[in-house]
Amino acid sequence: MAHLRFEALKRLSEQPRVHVDAPSPNVSDYFGENVFSLEQMRGSLSAAVFKKVSQAIVNHEKIDEATADAVASAVKSWALSKGATHFTHWFQPLTGGTAEKHDSFFDAKAGIERFKGSELVQQEPDASSFPSGGIRSTFEARGYTAWDPTSPMFLYGKTLCIPTVFVSYTGETLDAKGPLLKALKAVDKAATQVCQLFDKDIQHVTASLGPEQEYFVIDEALYNARPDLIMAGRTVFGHSPARGQQMEDHYFASIPSRVYDFMKDFEIECWKLGIPVRTRHNEVAPSQFEVAPLFEEVNVANDHNQLMMDVMWRVAGKHKLKVLFHEKPFAGLNGTGKHNNWSLITDTGINLFAPSSSARDNLLFLTFFVTTIKAVHEHADLLRASIATPGNDFRLGANEAPPAIMSVFIGSQMSAVLDELEKKGNVKIEKGDNMYMKLGIDQIPEIILDATDRNRTSPFAFTGNKFEFRAVGGSDNCAVAMTALNLIVANQLTHFHEVVSKEVEKGTEKRIAVVNLLRKYIKESKDIRFEGDGYSEEWVKEAAKRKLKNIKNMPRALDAYLEKKSVEIYERHGVLTHKELEARNEIRLEAYIKRVQIEARVMGDLAMNHIIPTAIAYQNKLIANANGLKGLGIDNKAVIQTIKEISGHIETIKTGVRKMIEERKRVNKITDTHARALAYCDDIKEKYFDKIREAVDELELLVDNEDWPLVKYRELLFLR
Ligand code: ADP
Ligand code: MG
Repeated sequence: MAHLRFEALKRLSEQPRVHVDAPSPNVSDYFGENVFSLEQMRGSLSAAVFKKVSQAIVNHEKIDEATADAVASAVKSWALSKGATHFTHWFQPLTGGTAEKHDSFFDAKAGIERFKGSELVQQEPDASSFPSGGIRSTFEARGYTAWDPTSPMFLYGKTLCIPTVFVSYTGETLDAKGPLLKALKAVDKAATQVCQLFDKDIQHVTASLGPEQEYFVIDEALYNARPDLIMAGRTVFGHSPARGQQMEDHYFASIPSRVYDFMKDFEIECWKLGIPVRTRHNEVAPSQFEVAPLFEEVNVANDHNQLMMDVMWRVAGKHKLKVLFHEKPFAGLNGTGKHNNWSLITDTGINLFAPSSSARDNLLFLTFFVTTIKAVHEHADLLRASIATPGNDFRLGANEAPPAIMSVFIGSQMSAVLDELEKKGNVKIEKGDNMYMKLGIDQIPEIILDATDRNRTSPFAFTGNKFEFRAVGGSDNCAVAMTALNLIVANQLTHFHEVVSKEVEKGTEKRIAVVNLLRKYIKESKDIRFEGDGYSEEWVKEAAKRKLKNIKNMPRALDAYLEKKSVEIYERHGVLTHKELEARNEIRLEAYIKRVQIEARVMGDLAMNHIIPTAIAYQNKLIANANGLKGLGIDNKAVIQTIKEISGHIETIKTGVRKMIEERKRVNKITDTHARALAYCDDIKEKYFDKIREAVDELELLVDNEDWPLVKYRELLFLR
């Protein structure tokens, strides 16, 4: 095995750079060239048909058959003119990632290229191989995909991709997109109602998302020499390099040339697909980087993020590189997150989370700001559940990552504003009084972007004109977290609207009713606000005092989905039924079990078949050496000490792996999925992973570098 490592290292220095040519120096010349955009549609449809489509999109309505036929015909001509041969319904099953099944445009019977409206609107993939959490066995064996006209179709290679939702024949959603669309519709409705208390012109509110994607880049040959990376997406062993991220020099360092070529290349591919990637930079850990797009409407932004991950993965291959999105590929180093920047924007162009210079608009801003905090306070556990992935268990609360405790950071200026609002007794307006002045609502600084005030340790932070949900994992589909967040905010806004409307009916002045309710919300949700260091031990203690939960692992975090108050809001806003929530948890728990199982197997296999034989071989060399020294009458205590240490570690590994296998056999017999997932977490992962790893990592320091079978961290991470 060691020869594989050295082969890969040798090839590293021989790796040529891949030359990357942009189609034009100006991105605007080719941005979105592979997208059948609204503009494309406008150009190729009759005015009446175009109007129907665009209205259906804005109002979340169904598109009729004749309109679908017209769109199908237009998109077919467009796609064929660009060399497309196939089309596919592109969807996001609950396995994570995306799926597609390609059909040819060519109809052999008719001898021509064909694409009907019905094929655009609906398709039947073979659903039996996608997880359904028991839904399909109980209800209906087949499912179908249905066109989502709110996300534009695009050409990927020679295939026209149609963004779709995936549903069972009995109507249960089987994907990530379906519930997201419903939550977005709910937040649109609730937010618009609230806006209309202030401004009757507002007809729609759109949620927007800018996901900052972190990732690691690793040389492909080195990656291939690490079975754990291949099988589990993360390294299960590996001693931290002498130089980790403690120097913090990677953050501002220049980007290595091979990575730079790769970035340039995937950005060009993204731009052709209309994905508005913008910033690129190094991250804190060595070989870690980030790409951030310009924000877009949540559904489109999420489709773009899913597509971008795929583009990155494919383009990396061309550069003989591998991209890692796993939340914790390397122990002891920064994990990988996907910061979800989120806000609500009206169709009149107001960002509802942007403070303004006018007092009236600031009351609108405060309404959305405070209501969001209140929503997070009410449903913190649900938010925690929504970011649960097997990988995030290793990331949350570890180096440089928010803890598993949900809290909101708003900065000192906004804290002062809320404190002020809370303290001012019952609001009464005397004639001539300016209520806004009294409450300091007019004094909110227009731009709250004090760089020093940025708290990177918070899982949910206000950053001036948006909230940043930072706890989302690097490999995750944002749709899951975005569904939960938009849903809880929709629910709170609905409550807000009900209470204020009732008060107004009773004769309270509207502004007073609003302020009174905001003050109540501020009081009730105070415990969720935290301005200090989220990475610190003190916060863990303080949070416990405040009764905020610190749920460290996925199986326990998921319980929140099935709590009464979660089910109630999912059902009230028509996002998911109780049955669907149960099914989803079942799928996630199964996925969790499989992941821990795979990691345990990889660990056992590597330890027993690679590490121990290497350690024994090296130990034998030492034994020969010790005997030789003894024969010469030279002190061999030091060598004997090392031999003993190696024996100790070998013993730890052997017993650890053996017991872990026995545990697995026992745990596999547990029939209840939830109980089995907990057992995998507590009795396998928690009990054995660290113990085995520690011994292996110690051996890495003792065994001759020439013999060590696994590519070391310093070799993987310091790509130039
Ligand atoms: P940071 O300092 O956190 O990197 P940036 O200004 O670079 O902040 O923005 C990070 C991400 O937030 C980008 O994807 C950006 O498009 C997005 N963003 C900015 N404003 C909004 C908004 N109103 N709603 C959603 N996302 C936003
Ligand atoms: Mg950011």
